[in-house]
Amino acid sequence: MNLIFLGAPGAGKGTQAEVVSDALKIPQISTGNILREAAKNGTEYGLKAKAAMDAGALVSDDIVIGILKERIAEDDCKEGFILDGFPRTVPQAEALDAMGIQIDKVIEINVADETIKQRVSGRRVCQGCGASYHIEYKPSKVEGVCDKCGDATVIRKDDKPEVVLDRLATYHEKTAPLKDYYEKQGKLVTVEGQEEVADTSKLTLAAVGVN
Ligand code: ADP
Ligand code: ZN
Repeated sequence: MNLIFLGAPGAGKGTQAEVVSDALKIPQISTGNILREAAKNGTEYGLKAKAAMDAGALVSDDIVIGILKERIAEDDCKEGFILDGFPRTVPQAEALDAMGIQIDKVIEINVADETIKQRVSGRRVCQGCGASYHIEYKPSKVEGVCDKCGDATVIRKDDKPEVVLDRLATYHEKTAPLKDYYEKQGKLVTVEGQEEVADTSKLTLAAVGVN
């Protein structure tokens, strides 16, 4: 099964993508994580990407489409994959269609902007492995320490309040039109984000047919 997770920054699409990835045993591909990793390693495209990310803007379609193509060509994607954070623009969605990739469902995690602004401030990410946490909704076992690798969890630069407003604006302008795009293909399923993560997960699993 090939799935796409859509949602505003901080809506919880990454968390839900991970739940489904565990349930279906297919990889979760987060373009945000791949880009942050590249930025950390200082590769040429990584440095370009970092400037855009830190400003709350999107990385150019060319770069992201290239990254995605390489990633889904890897062996572990043969039985299916979950795209978390891609596509984020109509040209990216068109590129996916042009590659001949069949998408089964597009799950949109819907959360109001006001709720997002409150939530993002509690988000933390591991500086080692990229795992994500939330101080209230998904805390690590030991505060400030990653459950998976033991490295420190930190606030992402682009989770600062001023940048979050820019990212929300970018989402509405560039990414939200994808809802129409996939609605027309009959693939869009909207899951209403709930107050409790576990409740949203139940709805998400039902939406992809896992009980
Ligand atoms: P969130 O979903 O919380 O915004 P991500 O980790 O998915 O966080 O993405 C972080 C940043 O990485 C984005 O704000 C953007 O700058 C960049 N990025 C990730 N995926 C894409 C993409 N498909 N196209 C363009 N930029 C992207
Ligand atoms: Zn970690």
